[in-house]
Amino acid sequence: QTWAMALNDGRLPGLSPGSDASRPPVSPCVPRCGSTRFVKQRNRTEYDAHKGLEEKEHARSSARSFPTASLSSHEKRKHAAVHAGLNYILSTGLAMLRNDALLQRHGSDILLPFHVPLQRQTEVEAHALGVARQLARLWKERVCSKELPRRAPPKDLLKLMQGLYALNELGIGDPVLCRVLAEQCADKTATDFFKFDPLCEMPGAQLREECACGACVADGAATCASCRRPAVQMSPFDVWLEALVYAFHGCRMNIGMGACYFDILKQLANSFAEAAANTKSLPSKDRHYLAYALTHVVYTLSNFNERALPADLFAPPLRQCLVERLRVALKKRDPDLAGECLDCLKCIGERGDLVDGAEKFLVDSQQADGGW
Ligand SMILES: [Zn+2]
Repeated sequence: QTWAMALNDGRLPGLSPGSDASRPPVSPCVPRCGSTRFVKQRNRTEYDAHKGLEEKEHARSSARSFPTASLSSHEKRKHAAVHAGLNYILSTGLAMLRNDALLQRHGSDILLPFHVPLQRQTEVEAHALGVARQLARLWKERVCSKELPRRAPPKDLLKLMQGLYALNELGIGDPVLCRVLAEQCADKTATDFFKFDPLCEMPGAQLREECACGACVADGAATCASCRRPAVQMSPFDVWLEALVYAFHGCRMNIGMGACYFDILKQLANSFAEAAANTKSLPSKDRHYLAYALTHVVYTLSNFNERALPADLFAPPLRQCLVERLRVALKKRDPDLAGECLDCLKCIGERGDLVDGAEKFLVDSQQADGGW
């Protein structure tokens, strides 16, 4: 409810309908989805005040990006780690995009999902934008030049949607292919895209994870038909996590998917509340995916780091959940989970020793090639 209200009262401009005509909102959804609930005028709010501070901070950070001599030694190491990480992403990403099998399997996951401002960047942001654009241009050249097969499977449509969304965000979109994609999506149902229908059911126990060999495993199967590995049941939080991100792209691109971002967010919010009341009884796999689902609520509500979120959007148990998972990740020396939890906690205003310690862990655990 708090998240819906924040979108409603314009505290998340750009994601709130009617708040900024130049940026498509998450909602209202296309008519099929029937959701025009979140239409209100944007008010000057606490968020805007916050944004003002952020802009000043941005101006300051631009000014201090040269020279780096004024930075503390930790800040200098962090700065160097980000540049090395971006170089690693670029070289690995370009190699993956040039490989047919990897392109087919990972597709648009290879692109940078995070928001990068197209103007007034800091030095690091300019580097990130260059990397994002090089990867996106190669993906576009390799994927968008081919004709979309008639009746492409939903999995392929979702990958294409994710890639086209990234191109749109970088200002190098393909509007013709977006239209073709929207037409094909119109023939599909919410279950085709999300593995369940968020309007009338919860994710089912019959759902299986994608096999390590890359094959989709049939609902209820005991083994993978392609490689005979044992099938693994999907955590419902994993199903919601995927659905949330897919629906985010669909709603932002105004492509009907049979259910919208808010339908999934609402279910997920109820499940967070239930899980927060019974954390001890939650299986560890569900706790793991719950953390990733929560980070993706932060990512989608912030348009993948375009903006900080008001701290009061996240009730103490949810914040605590991210804090606990960050502590677990640090203990297990898991840079992926540590990075996501750290990023999202910072996005909702967390500061202090835990944040500093997690940043230090990430810088210290970077490999010589810039990866982790
Ligand atoms: Zn398999």
